[in-house]
Amino acid sequence: DSQAAAKVVLAALEAARDAIELQQEVLGRLDAIAGDGDHGIGMQRGLTAAVEAARAALDAQAGAGTVLTAAGDAWSDRAGGTSGALWGVILRNLGNALRDEAKPDAATVAIGVAAALDAVSNLGKAQPGDKTLVDVLHPFAQALAAGAAQNLTVAAAWTMAAHIADEAAQATRNLMPRIGRARPHAEKSIGTPDPGAVSMALIIRAADKIVRK
Ligand code: ADP
Ligand code: MG
Ligand code: MG
Repeated sequence: DSQAAAKVVLAALEAARDAIELQQEVLGRLDAIAGDGDHGIGMQRGLTAAVEAARAALDAQAGAGTVLTAAGDAWSDRAGGTSGALWGVILRNLGNALRDEAKPDAATVAIGVAAALDAVSNLGKAQPGDKTLVDVLHPFAQALAAGAAQNLTVAAAWTMAAHIADEAAQATRNLMPRIGRARPHAEKSIGTPDPGAVSMALIIRAADKIVRK
């Protein structure tokens, strides 16, 4: 099945949309502590658009890379906000690396996530420790690369890296925001994890359940 990976991508985006929908209010409340409170609604809007675009591309016989690129474009067009622009960049970079291969290996996925991290860093200028989603994306990319180097399957590497992502999201609790909308209210956010880091870990976890099937 030449669309095998594309079908996994669509199912993972649907699972991510459902996971974010369940946590939408929680994410909004996290963002309201030092930001503007729109993170839950923005992520939900972006993922809804991403799923629609992914399904249309899959129906038009597209492979995984094309599906991801279409989903990323729709996400950044429709979500608005900083996280929408960054997630568009993440999906487009992942899509460029996967191309339309039917069965990408762990090394290819790791290269795609590393490219996504590079692009997010170039666009948003956040460093690890600045209390943003980079604090999840950076260790996640490193863990995937380590898994690929050990010749793990995509599923095994992703599961291992998803654990790291969960821990990294929770660890942002102790950080002071140094960039983005939360910076002027930095001290208020100590003790609360970064909303973009939490939503990224949720998406990685939702995708893990699909990748392991
Ligand atoms: P906005 O801040 O425009 O309202 P969201 O509320 O949707 O956008 O997203 C906020 C999240 O975006 C933050 O929690 C943080 O994880 C992430 N973020 C903000 N600025 C940056 C940046 N420069 N680089 C990386 N991530 C960022
Ligand atoms: Mg916000
Ligand atoms: Mg906003």
